[in-house]
Amino acid sequence: MADHSYDYDVLVIGAGPGGYVAAIRAAQLGLKVACAEARETLGGTCLNVGCIPSKAMLHASEYFDAAANGTMASMGIDVAPKLNMDKMHAQRIDAVDGLTKGIEFLFKKNKVTWVKGLATFQDAHTVKVGDATVTAKDIVIATGSSVTPLPGVEVDNDKHVVVDSTGALELPKVPKKMVVIGGGVIGLELGSVWNRLGAEVTCVEFLDEILPGMDGDIRKDARKIFKKQGIEFKLSTKVTGVTVKGKKATLTLEPAAGGEEETMQADCVLVSIGRRPNTEGLGLEAIGLATNQRGQIETAHDFRTKVDNVWAIGDCIPGPMLAHKAEDEGIAVAENIAGETGIVNHDVIPSVVYTLPEIAGVGLTTEQAIEQAGGDKKAINVGKFPMMANSRAKTNHEPDGFVKVISDAETDRVLGVWCIASVAGTMIAEAGIAMEFGATSEDIAYTCHAHPTHAEAMKEAAMAVTGKPIHM
Ligand code: FAD
Ligand code: NAD
Repeated sequence: MADHSYDYDVLVIGAGPGGYVAAIRAAQLGLKVACAEARETLGGTCLNVGCIPSKAMLHASEYFDAAANGTMASMGIDVAPKLNMDKMHAQRIDAVDGLTKGIEFLFKKNKVTWVKGLATFQDAHTVKVGDATVTAKDIVIATGSSVTPLPGVEVDNDKHVVVDSTGALELPKVPKKMVVIGGGVIGLELGSVWNRLGAEVTCVEFLDEILPGMDGDIRKDARKIFKKQGIEFKLSTKVTGVTVKGKKATLTLEPAAGGEEETMQADCVLVSIGRRPNTEGLGLEAIGLATNQRGQIETAHDFRTKVDNVWAIGDCIPGPMLAHKAEDEGIAVAENIAGETGIVNHDVIPSVVYTLPEIAGVGLTTEQAIEQAGGDKKAINVGKFPMMANSRAKTNHEPDGFVKVISDAETDRVLGVWCIASVAGTMIAEAGIAMEFGATSEDIAYTCHAHPTHAEAMKEAAMAVTGKPIHM
């Protein structure tokens, strides 16, 4: 029932995957909804400068690489590829345009009003959006995140020398030498794009291994695969500064633990050391809402903040900064506002790195599972199966990677699944469903998987938990 003392039942601030999904779901549930967005287009980081444009560049560069590196020749197709950078960028822009306009269409279809402009709280029911003032009974903060700056390093995307992820998506030509600061998801995905297109890429990582947060075996194997593809790594190293002269950058580096400084030259430097929540300038002080030490808004299980009728979701709250996590929270928060019960199981959120091969995981890593068992390695069983022994991967010339299933030694319940495979991002969905339904490794092992598919490696890894894979 609409409350006529407010302009809207719900105002969502931010139209990224969290915000636009929350707005649409709230409207579907019969509420009168507005969504404030400061950008010129809907879709947030993900559609405009994140998930979508990066995948457009990853996909296109995979084709170039397959033609250039002999993969196509090995299947009897002799080609000599010629790079048309403008066209590659045009198809990226096309993908972004189509999808952001798609959200505009969905807003119209579901009668969600888009209020254009930067939103600032006046009080817990009133928000200034540009020149307009909007009131709503419930307000959802879905303001997302932005690039974390690195002290001593100034990003200037327009000059194409020191760039962040947005600049790295738009480089007009392939740099000869590129240094990526940070061996996380963005560094590896965008480093892979330019490596495939011909840049010499070096990745500098502060920790002693890339991809923090992922399973230990996966991290090590992934680095070996990237190295084979031509990416160089400098681990346990920190960048202390970057100076730019004309079109050249000079980086100063030193060991993470401290020690002798060295320098490195590059034509392009990508700063990808993480993202931080967009909570400054939102006027949270006007509603008495404080952020935590990391600038995030803390919420209860149902995404309610400490202020009545103000909710928060997505990258601006704790948890992995992932589009699908934000989307699921968007659905749940709308359902909770409408008086239904919206829940997100934060223990089963898959993460995927869209390199080739892809890297994916869900649930606990081996290290976390052992730690949860008080350090008892015997408390878990692990089954592994190499993609080299999977008939489809072998036939497709995709021998790299493996699947790893971790289960509780007592109950056999699946605790985590990790894989490196050309289609790992698609394969991991099966593991997520299995875990949501409390499956055991035996449940996966006795589920018929189509042949020949990469997914059979998941079944075999599950069989390996109890030591009985067939094709090994
Ligand atoms: P956002 O998408 O950041 O959207 C927030 C929106 O709020 C923005 O449009 C912003 O303009 C707006 N806003 C902020 N403050 C205000 C204000 N005061 N008033 C009005 N509007 C405001 N995740 C994946 O799951 N898969 C991927 O493949 C993937 N690839 C990525 C690649 C890159 C290069 C980057 C940078 C990120 C990637 N991510 C990926 C992460 C993903 O983009 C984020 O997790 C996701 O966009 C978070 O959604 P959100 O709705 O919380 O916030
Ligand atoms: P990240 O947190 O994934 O990785 C940052 C890396 O930089 C870490 O390995 C960290 O140890 C390292 N680092 C930090 N400070 C450093 C320093 N001074 N010198 C050298 N290394 C340093 O962050 P990101 O790659 O910038 O990505 C940001 C967010 O975007 C991530 O949280 C991720 O979830 C999201 N994202 C997701 C996808 C995907 O799902 N495929 C793709 C891109 C981005």
